[in-house]
Amino acid sequence: MKSRSASRFPAFKPGSVWLVGAGPGDPGLLSLLAHHALARADDVVYDALVDKRILALARRGARRHYAGKRGGKPSPRQPDISRRLVELAKQGRRVLRLKGGDPFVFGRGGEEALALEAARVPYRIVPGITAGIGGLAYAGIPLTHRDTNSAVTFITGHASGGALPDALDWAALARGAPVLVIYMALKHLKAIAARLVAGGRAPDDPVAIVTHATTRRQRVVETTLARAARDASRAKLTPPAVLVVGRTIRLKPQK
Ligand code: SAH
Repeated sequence: MKSRSASRFPAFKPGSVWLVGAGPGDPGLLSLLAHHALARADDVVYDALVDKRILALARRGARRHYAGKRGGKPSPRQPDISRRLVELAKQGRRVLRLKGGDPFVFGRGGEEALALEAARVPYRIVPGITAGIGGLAYAGIPLTHRDTNSAVTFITGHASGGALPDALDWAALARGAPVLVIYMALKHLKAIAARLVAGGRAPDDPVAIVTHATTRRQRVVETTLARAARDASRAKLTPPAVLVVGRTIRLKPQK
């Protein structure tokens, strides 16, 4: 059935790249534009965090290119991924670059867009639901609440080389907003919590760690800054995880 609304979607032209956010996992969180692109792409270049159920929605016959980490091997270098996108587009393919969450939130989508622009490849950005918003919603945690916060800070716990981003002013971040949402926080959890406490956050400030959000493997561990690292390791939490710090967690409906 070709509905009127479907025909209003922009054409996915051969020789172009769509940089699309796949959301945190649940295929139901894909945008209609993302779904439209999956149904038409010739090539799908996807990251490790893209859910298999979403890939299964790709057009039959579409070629899939994995651009994430595998078996502990280092991930492909960003310039190589960008070059691949350009090459495929120049071959006249419809290239879908599928990224977890939103392509422009801690996802290096900006670098890929710049590379496409430099190579004069036409491209379109399709936003996705980011883990630090949609993932929290699936855990029942309101990102903002009138009683707790009128600001939120989003932080990444990894610098580009994988180390804790020391260039960040952790003390300013600690005081900057009542609610902090930290991506890629598991590896450096202990150091992050210590820096936030050193920067003035109370050790008993509530923390929630949400792993594999929006998937069947979703887990939510509620703890405090002082106990977060210990509780995460006791619960044997595995990435991907978002960490939320602040009183908004206490407003989570009790089921
Ligand atoms: N562009 C993505 C973020 C990429 S960085 C987005 O907008 O969501 C990768 C980090 O995202 C992970 O380390 C984790 O912190 C977070 N993340 C992505 N998917 C997640 C999920 N399903 N559950 C919890 N955290 C997730």
